[in-house]
Amino acid sequence: MYQLRHIILPFNSLRTFSSTSVTCWKCSKQLNIRLEGNSNIMQLYFCGCQHNVVLSPTTNTDYFQLLGFSKSYEIDKRALARSYRMLQSYLHPDKFANKSKLEQLYSSEQSSLVNKAYSTLAKPYTRALYLLEQVGLTISEKDTGTGSDPSFLMRIMELNEVLAEHPSRDTLVKMKEENEGNLSDCEKELIVHFESGNYKMAKEVLGKMKYYHNLQDNMEEQLMS
Ligand SMILES: [Zn+2]
Repeated sequence: MYQLRHIILPFNSLRTFSSTSVTCWKCSKQLNIRLEGNSNIMQLYFCGCQHNVVLSPTTNTDYFQLLGFSKSYEIDKRALARSYRMLQSYLHPDKFANKSKLEQLYSSEQSSLVNKAYSTLAKPYTRALYLLEQVGLTISEKDTGTGSDPSFLMRIMELNEVLAEHPSRDTLVKMKEENEGNLSDCEKELIVHFESGNYKMAKEVLGKMKYYHNLQDNMEEQLMS
């Protein structure tokens, strides 16, 4: 396992506004958009020329910007969902049924981009993964997330053994509760690590969460059967 350098660059210290530019395919105007929270967010998607033409997707805008948020692990989930629903209400391809083929294409591309951004940011695990990707850290299949905690994998193996025996419903419910507690502890740890810019530790926590999520899937499957 290679050693990651401790990178100190808390996301919270990054500027809270950002800018991007997009050229309107219809009027050829270059639109420079200053994003501050979700103000101006509609400018990412529409140009004021000719009854709000839907723009082609930008390639230089991250998922946080697309939904009008600053890049941070901690996020207001309700505001995120509101922003998502608002954007989809404008971008949904059904709204463009009477428009040109090109606008239909762009609206469907924008709509799926917004979907992707939302589904990534809505869940703590994928949001954290995305933030780490943004600083060049990815989690491969080989990452066990157990580097500093050798007893962890042992515990997971034990739990998997119990699950392989198809335990009783009561046992499953208890195990699931405990697992959910572990996941929620991991989410709290992530807040601390992202706040201090300790991405190496965040990555380790994500490695553990991967195991907890697998256990969770297994338990839910057994409970449903
Ligand atoms: Zn235009």
